[in-house]
Amino acid sequence: MELTKQKKTAKRGVKTNELTIKLPAISENEAVARAIVGAFAARLDPTLEELADIRCAVSEAVTNSVVHAYKEREGSLYITMRSYDDKTLKITVKDTGKGIENVKRAMEPMFTTESGTERSGMGFAVMQSFTDDVRVRSALGKGTTVTLTKRMGGTEE
Ligand code: ATP
Ligand code: MG
Repeated sequence: MELTKQKKTAKRGVKTNELTIKLPAISENEAVARAIVGAFAARLDPTLEELADIRCAVSEAVTNSVVHAYKEREGSLYITMRSYDDKTLKITVKDTGKGIENVKRAMEPMFTTESGTERSGMGFAVMQSFTDDVRVRSALGKGTTVTLTKRMGGTEE
């Protein structure tokens, strides 16, 4: 399992395009992020399903930064999109908010620190099922960076 993952990331192609945006962490920007990622990803000949998947995964990461990272204060989101000549798309969603205490536990399906709300603890599970790889780096009080990797273009493994 772990070996397969390493192989996938190690075999990355040559970078063909890159775009970084900074935007306020407000819920309105979930839709903005989805649209921009969709436009960037469209250059890689994705299937409609792949496009929907990556937009959805990014939306979950952005929602997490808006909802959890900057509780009751303002903050910024940084989204970097990179494409590679093997049609791999790599997207990082970064915030400088409160950070995650235990990343492994946070990524477990149905784990949420917001029980009793509309949150179901499925955000990371959605990101994992809609992409090939999800990496999370986080430090308490410093922030969180989520990296999503997905091979586009209907290619077979
Ligand atoms: P759902 O996504 O289903 O609405 P959720 O956001 O609680 O619910 P996940 O997206 O899986 O579920 O996240 C799990 C937990 O990880 C969150 O409850 C929160 O405590 C923590 N978390 C996730 N992203 C961040 C972040 N960017 N900053 C701080 N904490 C985060
Ligand atoms: Mg979530």
